[in-house]
Amino acid sequence: MAAGSAIQIPSRLPLLLTHEGVLLPGSTMRTSVDSPRNMQLVRSRLLKGTSLRSTIIGVIPNTSDPTSDCDDLPSLHRIGTAALAVQVVGSNWPKPHYTLLVTGLCRFQILQLLKEKPYPVAEVEQLDRLEQFTNQHKSEEELGELSEQFYKYAVQLVEMLDMSVPAVAKLRRLLDNLPREALPDILTSIIRTSNQEKLQILDAVRLEERFKMTIPLLVRQIEGLKLLQKTRKPKQDDDKRVVAIRPNRRINHIPSTTEDEEEEEDHDDVVMLEKKIRTSSMSEQALKVCLKEIKRLKKMPQSMPEYALTRNYLELMVELPWNKSTKDRLEIRAARILLDNDHYAMEKLKKRVLEYLAVRQLKNNLKGPILCFVGPPGVGKTSVGRSIAKTLGREFHRIALGGVCDQSDIRGHRRTYVGSMPGRIINGLKTVGVNNPVFLLDEVDKLGKSLQGDPAAALLEVLDPEQNHSFTDHYLNVAFDLSQVLFIATANTTATIPPALLDRMEIIQVPGYTQEEKIEIAHRHLIPKQLEQHGLTPQQIQIPQVTTLDIITRYTREAGVRSLDRKLGAICRAVAVKVAEGQHKETKPDRAEVGDGEDCREHVTEDTKPESISETADLALPPEMPILIDFHALKDILGPPMYEMEVSERLSQPGVAIGLAWTPLGGEIMFVEASRMEGEGQLTLTGQLGDVMKESAHLAISWLRSNAKRYQLTNASGSFDLLDNTDIHLHFPAGAVTKDGPSAGVTIVTCLASLFSGRLVCSDVAMTGEITLRGLVLPVGGIKDKVLAAHRAGLKRVIIPQRNEKDLEEIAVNVRQDLRFVLASCLDEVLNAAFDGGFAVKPRVERLNSKL
Ligand code: ADP
Repeated sequence: MAAGSAIQIPSRLPLLLTHEGVLLPGSTMRTSVDSPRNMQLVRSRLLKGTSLRSTIIGVIPNTSDPTSDCDDLPSLHRIGTAALAVQVVGSNWPKPHYTLLVTGLCRFQILQLLKEKPYPVAEVEQLDRLEQFTNQHKSEEELGELSEQFYKYAVQLVEMLDMSVPAVAKLRRLLDNLPREALPDILTSIIRTSNQEKLQILDAVRLEERFKMTIPLLVRQIEGLKLLQKTRKPKQDDDKRVVAIRPNRRINHIPSTTEDEEEEEDHDDVVMLEKKIRTSSMSEQALKVCLKEIKRLKKMPQSMPEYALTRNYLELMVELPWNKSTKDRLEIRAARILLDNDHYAMEKLKKRVLEYLAVRQLKNNLKGPILCFVGPPGVGKTSVGRSIAKTLGREFHRIALGGVCDQSDIRGHRRTYVGSMPGRIINGLKTVGVNNPVFLLDEVDKLGKSLQGDPAAALLEVLDPEQNHSFTDHYLNVAFDLSQVLFIATANTTATIPPALLDRMEIIQVPGYTQEEKIEIAHRHLIPKQLEQHGLTPQQIQIPQVTTLDIITRYTREAGVRSLDRKLGAICRAVAVKVAEGQHKETKPDRAEVGDGEDCREHVTEDTKPESISETADLALPPEMPILIDFHALKDILGPPMYEMEVSERLSQPGVAIGLAWTPLGGEIMFVEASRMEGEGQLTLTGQLGDVMKESAHLAISWLRSNAKRYQLTNASGSFDLLDNTDIHLHFPAGAVTKDGPSAGVTIVTCLASLFSGRLVCSDVAMTGEITLRGLVLPVGGIKDKVLAAHRAGLKRVIIPQRNEKDLEEIAVNVRQDLRFVLASCLDEVLNAAFDGGFAVKPRVERLNSKL
């Protein structure tokens, strides 16, 4: 403050209005600036100015309600403190604001407000003139006694503090060196005082008044300290300083003001937090870290951005279920019943899940494999995961990994980053609140990779039973035991799962459903669920099995049941409207009563008028109950069918054959088309094919060329050299979908054989199999899904490689009964089966070609 004497503050000062505290001359304050006016001041004055003058601002305590600060300038406190802005720190998080470090120079009084916008500027008069005090002996004599008394108390107070703390020692030295006039301001800002009290000291322009007001505050502080020291025998030296500077007001029995209460509350919160930390069951290592952090927190001003970060961290640490778990109730018989009740079919999956649970019942050791359900969408992978949690009586949490490409998503951000947060695993644990939930890692095959690291690598640690008892999230920075968590993963395909991750999991294939299974699932699970969701009852709507079959075959083409579920939802919505309309009408007295269920159904079925539903709507009549969903109603609600049986139509000319393909979405039938034209023996392939598929096409052509004579295959000009003057174009429709794999080999051969022989391939046959140059047919994968696709498409015969015979056992009996399987080990057998009447090698009618 000695420098204060040399400073003549400018006569015009920009004004900073502070809510947070009262700045007194000689003290330093950190204040957060976020109101538009103050932000403008910082931006256009402090950040743009280059002279020392431009860093001097007037700090006015804003006594009015902070929320009314937005538009009109509140009535300003008359006296403020001219201050030097020492530091400006900007931050964008959680909202744009600056943190300002200001040092008070001297009091000033506002004479006149010069402008209000964008920030207030006032003409001011400097009030503290230090040279005057030192020169006026008289006033000093008068004040002598007061200032001496004040000095005594100040020394007493400082000596009660811990002298080993450098700041306290420095303060002791300052007491002797500073001019006495500066002491009241400085000490008031150091000791525990409310903003109201500080404001009174600021307003005390006369020195005598100031001394008089500060002495009781000092005395109060000294008494408070004495009491505290008595009640709390000093335990930890480190705590002493904190205690000294923030003595507990309540002990002093001095009524506190509202502002004070807020501060007090915050302080109480920190104390509560500390108590929670001490009583929580966190690991020793975590406790040590937390105690260290809370010590830091206590010393931190609340306006520091780090305060909130540290507090959030500590709150998370307290909330985490370090030692809280649910009790497993595992009874295999009950589990079987529950799984059966929740899911129809999926026998293989249910069997494996029960085995897994049985082992856990016998040996409560969690180091078992991690199950990974692999199958097309909508086959119930997630819902089986949920059922497992239910059978075990555990909490369930789903972590969607699709598209995650940053390892911090799994393992959290380090706390040094702005906006850092824990990873999904720790977050999930916080959400469920126990340390032994079932975590479903959904779509592990869709993890991405990016510059921010490989999330799959981070998952390795999570899923490894040998390592996950000490999983360290970057945000927590202490180990958390994940060994009690039961992880289940789901994926559509194993092809894109990184091998190291795949290695840690036990793959259970969940194939698509047959039409019959879908019908059963719809009637046992989906329809009742949809009815409940839409507030309908079976007395109001009836969906017969034929309709379900229609939906399955004509409105959906999928391996799972998700779109089927959606379509059923659409039907329920449409019916809900009718029912609601009906109820409305029913309340009218002249409404005809609703007939009972049986009669009405008959009525509707007999009523063959196609637009029965829409007609009733037109007439605004309530529908008769139950509303029967027949094909006409279906068409009315869902629109015209999306998929028609197009097979026979497309096979009406030579050069088309049906193949079977496997995709992550289940099996599909695939048409292969070929055409030939005059050219130079070129092969054109279209339809986004992978390398393996292109090779299959070349193989097929080579095999046919070498066997052209045997099969009497000729090009357009009758030559056995099929590519002579001929170009071939092979196309695999649905050109937007990438296709690859060797299993189209037999289909390409059949398609080309049809093209060159001019014969039609049977329209009810589909095929799959890899070929070799010698004409052998090799086994391929995904037979079950492919066969189901053929069945869905209404085909009657399927040609598969001989060595795939064993895979047929997995296929449901009813599907097997509907289809005829041709097991082929070489291409001759394939061609024989694919063409009506066979494609046998015909003895060639020898014709002598005269060479003369
Ligand atoms: P996925 O995770 O395989 O993509 P979901 O588990 O989300 O599929 O299943 C979609 C819907 O289908 C769920 O409502 C589920 O209850 C239902 N579902 C699927 N398979 C069955 C089944 N076998 N029995 C009963 N409901 C099923």
